[in-house]
Amino acid sequence: MKQLNKSLVINIIRDHRQISRVDIARETGLNRSTVTNLVRELMDENVVNTSQAEPKYSGGRRAEILELNYDSFKIVVVNIGRYTTTVGLVDIDANIKASRSFTTSVQASADETLRQVAEEIKALLRDTDTTVDEVRGIGVSISGLVNISTGVVEFSPNLKWKSVPVKAVLERELGIKTFVDNCTRCVARGEQWFGAAKGLKAFACVNIGYGIGASLVTDYRLITGAHWGAAEIGHITVLKDGPLCNCGKRGCLEALAGGEAIASRAKELIRSGVQTEILDFADGKIEKVTAREVSLAARNADKPALEIAREVGYWVGLGISHMVNMFDPSEVILSGGVSRMEGNFLDVVNEVVQENLMGNRQSPCHVIRGDLGEHAEIIGAATLVLSDVGFVPPGVKDPFFAVYNLDGDRVGSAANSLQLQA
Ligand SMILES: [Zn+2]
Repeated sequence: MKQLNKSLVINIIRDHRQISRVDIARETGLNRSTVTNLVRELMDENVVNTSQAEPKYSGGRRAEILELNYDSFKIVVVNIGRYTTTVGLVDIDANIKASRSFTTSVQASADETLRQVAEEIKALLRDTDTTVDEVRGIGVSISGLVNISTGVVEFSPNLKWKSVPVKAVLERELGIKTFVDNCTRCVARGEQWFGAAKGLKAFACVNIGYGIGASLVTDYRLITGAHWGAAEIGHITVLKDGPLCNCGKRGCLEALAGGEAIASRAKELIRSGVQTEILDFADGKIEKVTAREVSLAARNADKPALEIAREVGYWVGLGISHMVNMFDPSEVILSGGVSRMEGNFLDVVNEVVQENLMGNRQSPCHVIRGDLGEHAEIIGAATLVLSDVGFVPPGVKDPFFAVYNLDGDRVGSAANSLQLQA
């Protein structure tokens, strides 16, 4: 109960940005002495401090104004990507204060990569004069099947990892509480807390980069599935007997619209003698052609590039329409390099989604680009730590929305309409 009350208090302070103890008591229904005690604890934990703002007069007394402790609340974030690994230090509002990156080596073992991550975090803390004690937690985003409760990466085909206890290794190396989630779920978390999905009850994220992943939120909650593999949209079949996919099947969405598929399609056109600017953007070297060069050429209205952008838009729209028919999200948020594809890519995606929705649907589903761009994963990773402290995503309308920590204890709640007493 105390955890819940504490969570009520910090969420109200965050939502108001600045508020007095008296107003917290009024908003939460908690009695004044309970609020005073909880605020004292939150100050001791460096979550809350008194604001420099003018004190407010209430009932003839000067009331101290409280706010979140933006400077002293520190979170370490990590994104282990297929090509690049980034570590960063963010504040309570997910502002990135400092970051470092290194090239992810698929030749390296998981142990070696994690050791390197730990070294980079130590260097980051040194550079920013941050002590281990000041860090509230580490949030890690990584591709593949991630068991959130144990922090074990069960399987990551992109990194060639199997059963890697990321949480345990980093906690041992650094002595800081660590949380791990899949990168596409981290994108959804980031957009839900700080980006394009703020306050949305049901939405999906589709990340199109080297591969294609997705995540789904319904009733403000992320769906994880029984085996942490929900929403694997990249491997739904969109073309019978289509091209071979990395997963071994044929005609998967990823095999038609993933970054690798786009590059192969472009190379095929170039080899067949088609005149295109795609090759110019790759310095005339066909082996340097990636989805990025296709996008650049599409922006220049290069016909073959526009044709590829249209094709990719068609496949992505078709894949998304299956998800929309099943889960009815109000928005689908695109992220990843391919999502920034120029030309009429996004229009085609939206057209195909609308065409394939269950008949006479009144409310459309909008496919849009996310707000957080390349920072979505690490900002989402920060929310893993924020949830552990008891924060809930802003704008959650469900008064019974609860946040649980990894031990299954209810630590957070949006229940500001309930009158909870300590
Ligand atoms: Zn596949």
